[in-house]
Amino acid sequence: MRRLDIASVRGVAQEYGKYVFKGCSKVPKKVNAQTDELRNLIKSIPQTAQYQAFRDYIQFVWDNYEKILILEPDKFQTFADSFVDTNGNKINVNVNDVNWKKWQVGEKKIEFYKAIVEAMNYEHVRESKNGYLKYFEMLNIKTCAYCNASYIMNVRTKKRDKKGFQIGEELKGRFELDHFFPKSKYPFLCISFFNLIPCCPCCNRWKSDDESTFSLYTSQKQDLDVFTFYLTNFSIIEYVLKHDVNKLNIKLKAKDINLKYNHEARFHIEELYEHFKDEAEEILWIFLSQNNAYFKQAMESFNKVFDSKALLRIMYGVYEGDENIHKRPLSKMKMDILHQLKLIK
Ligand SMILES: [Zn+2]
Repeated sequence: MRRLDIASVRGVAQEYGKYVFKGCSKVPKKVNAQTDELRNLIKSIPQTAQYQAFRDYIQFVWDNYEKILILEPDKFQTFADSFVDTNGNKINVNVNDVNWKKWQVGEKKIEFYKAIVEAMNYEHVRESKNGYLKYFEMLNIKTCAYCNASYIMNVRTKKRDKKGFQIGEELKGRFELDHFFPKSKYPFLCISFFNLIPCCPCCNRWKSDDESTFSLYTSQKQDLDVFTFYLTNFSIIEYVLKHDVNKLNIKLKAKDINLKYNHEARFHIEELYEHFKDEAEEILWIFLSQNNAYFKQAMESFNKVFDSKALLRIMYGVYEGDENIHKRPLSKMKMDILHQLKLIK
């Protein structure tokens, strides 16, 4: 729910791009095996005018392959609109068309976009331990990019033979990848680093192929933190009077109202956070205890033993610094409420 500064991950994306371009493929030790598969796809399409646009489309992807891998989000739409054939004419293709080639009798027809996703080896790039998983780790985030309510991570699991003996280790991603620009509309972005958004299975499922206006990456510092959670003042007063956690009302606001509506429509954040009122209540307890003499005494003792960073973790379970909200679930909500109540600067 907080964006990442694209400048801080550009190096990671470039390493990923280099690796995938060199052939992160099911076909080992083959230089540019990825682009070879696109070339094979072109060859599988009849060389007639009827199918020309489909061949041109793949050719355009093939020609721009290296660039596409590290294309930045603010260039996605411009690039998508720039598909032209060798004569400079715009390529018009319906990527959901199933009649992009001549099918053999009994052959199962698939949509054009699926053939591209397959030729670009998306599944393999996603699952391979040297593919996206490795570069995900370098992003240093451990919570869903969309909801900040669930952990996501890589897990090193034990690989066992049929008898149960350990024969090695495997790297498994305990998260899903959402395509910011859906692959059913923009298949050429299926393995573009900045189009892959690590998220929890639920957010991925709820969003499905709908478009989200929240991109994880930005080059604008002022766009890093676009959402803010807060407790409504009225609900705080009601809570103080009745000590009923259900009275607390956690709301979300965004710099841009359309961004807020879109995020709520896709991920139902306010409804989801209804379940975390008790976490907000624990912060309120400390807020309301601030002037209590025993509490002050306890805090003085704590301050002698722990530094401010450790105290934040002990008391609220969050890491210092807004940039660290990706380290633990609910950190975004907690940090925002801590700011709201002026418990931290
Ligand atoms: Zn999520």
